[in-house]
Amino acid sequence: MAWKFPFRIKKQNNTDALWMKCENCNSLVYKRDVEALLECCPECDWHFRIDHKKRIEQLLDDGQFEELFPELESTDPLTFRAKKAYKDKLKAAMKSTGQRDAAVFGVGSINGAKSVFGVIDPTFIMGAMGSVTGEKIARAAEYATEHKLPLVLISGSGGGARMEEGVLSLMQMAKSSAALGRFKEAGGLYVVVLTNATMGGSMASFASLGDVIVAEPMALLGFTGPRVIQQTIKTDLPEGFQTSEFLLEHGFIDRIVRRTEMREYLGFLLTFFTQATDVEKGTVPAQEAAKSMRMSTFDSSELVVMNTPPPEELNGTASNGNGNLQAAAEQAHAEAGSHGTYGSNGAAPKGEPAEVSVTAAKSAEEPPGDNESR
Ligand SMILES: [Zn+2]
Repeated sequence: MAWKFPFRIKKQNNTDALWMKCENCNSLVYKRDVEALLECCPECDWHFRIDHKKRIEQLLDDGQFEELFPELESTDPLTFRAKKAYKDKLKAAMKSTGQRDAAVFGVGSINGAKSVFGVIDPTFIMGAMGSVTGEKIARAAEYATEHKLPLVLISGSGGGARMEEGVLSLMQMAKSSAALGRFKEAGGLYVVVLTNATMGGSMASFASLGDVIVAEPMALLGFTGPRVIQQTIKTDLPEGFQTSEFLLEHGFIDRIVRRTEMREYLGFLLTFFTQATDVEKGTVPAQEAAKSMRMSTFDSSELVVMNTPPPEELNGTASNGNGNLQAAAEQAHAEAGSHGTYGSNGAAPKGEPAEVSVTAAKSAEEPPGDNESR
């Protein structure tokens, strides 16, 4: 008869609490190491899926923001039922996340720069876009216009549109796109961060409309999954198809930024554009702007925004404004002698040579392969 060790079960649980298996490289990794890297694999740099609470904690100053429109809640107009009734699915998601919808919006500061900040929680029905998600994006854009704030959105919508809400879910694509369009016309800055996975209707609307589109490394980004495309067009897809790295190389996104550098980078972006406006208006001298840029580890000379509206529509980030800011950037760069230290991921391809719209003298000691701007 075999011996039984009842304490073994307990021992196994303890081990489970300390170690985890990486879903990308299958390495057994120490959970504390993963936490220290903001939920990234220490072996392969895989960025694990995280909920809205962790995102807010990681990106916002003091891990806090003032939530907007928390009362909005999806109804069940179709009394939809598949394996499970939609009503029950909603209730379960609300209970596990403590939120009423996948979209969570609020006002907070990122490295000192105030913005309207939103995150789509991938743990809430796959982050699928229901009526409330679209409504919140539209309201956030209107709030940002009214209060003259930039809008930052972290997408995590692996599910695309939320089919349980039928056409009401699909019309959110048009609604959120139109609201973001009005925000841009009013001169607002919209920064979107694409995370693994962002697909379907979300990718076809709010997720691809950023003035600056940033992505986490190795994220799956696209409309339909690669397998479906392959089966439809009956051709082999190129290697790395629909990953952040592939889309960077093909000009769809502006930059790949690792999670550990994301807060600083977003803060830098927001400060850079705010100062461009302030320098242009003459409310802040270029030297002052240079001072705060000196405090950043990022190199503003690398900043290129290709998909922004013409400069005259940008309320002061006009090309002649860049002239002053260029001098500021140049000064900051020369004094700091620093360069961007972010986004360098061994697996990621290098960006194409930049068509620089805001140019500054580059320091000669800049190491190769350290930037991924285009
Ligand atoms: Zn890994």
